Amino acid sequence: MEYFIIANWKSNLALSEVEEWLDDFEELYEKTGDVTVGIAPAFTEIVSVSDGLNQLEMYDIILMAQDIGEFDKGKHTGSVSGYHLDDIGVEAVIIGHSEHRKEFNESDELINQKIAQALKYKIKPVVAVSNIKQVESIAKGKFNNSELVIAYEPLESIGGGNPAEEDEVLSFMAQVKKVLGDNVATIYGGSVDSKDVERYLDHAEIEGFLVGTASLDPEEFVGIINRVSG
Ligand code: PEP
Repeated sequence: MEYFIIANWKSNLALSEVEEWLDDFEELYEKTGDVTVGIAPAFTEIVSVSDGLNQLEMYDIILMAQDIGEFDKGKHTGSVSGYHLDDIGVEAVIIGHSEHRKEFNESDELINQKIAQALKYKIKPVVAVSNIKQVESIAKGKFNNSELVIAYEPLESIGGGNPAEEDEVLSFMAQVKKVLGDNVATIYGGSVDSKDVERYLDHAEIEGFLVGTASLDPEEFVGIINRVSG
């Protein structure tokens, strides 16, 4: 089974910090067939991460964004569209992270508009959810669910130090598959680090990890990758 492991830098690493992170990551990381790695920087760092990865010849790493505008290109000042993300090589995008849902007052309908925009540009939507109502709302979008990744992120587990019980994660993922079908990919996010990741391994339903805090430290992030692929 191939895991999808995503570094969600949130609103953290800035341009001046990207080069050092990538250099450290490159020194430690060894590509394996078991893991696909994605990096989701802030919008302003995406191109630099792309350049850095190319310079380091790390062509296997997936370039990601943390959000996508609900509009297509055009008269939408301040919006970053799928057209723009696709043009700079973004292959996957986080949509509906709980911080973004809350701080930007995002509705379930808006999330579906964003999913539609991502799919239009063949950018894989990684849709973060924290309850089953949000999953049911995604079902209303009538997407090809095999093109989606659902990231289950219980609110109380986000921020480091409080990983969810694996039984609870598995039970939620079973519900997700019931609603969206067996072909939807399901990953877990919430306080995953190189030690705690262990408890989520060897369950077919947990197909990867969305990593916040631990992804800021390349050593810790590579520790997760190594543990998963080992
Ligand atoms: C996240 O916010 O997506 C996340 C998983 O954060 P953390 O790893 O810090 O819990």
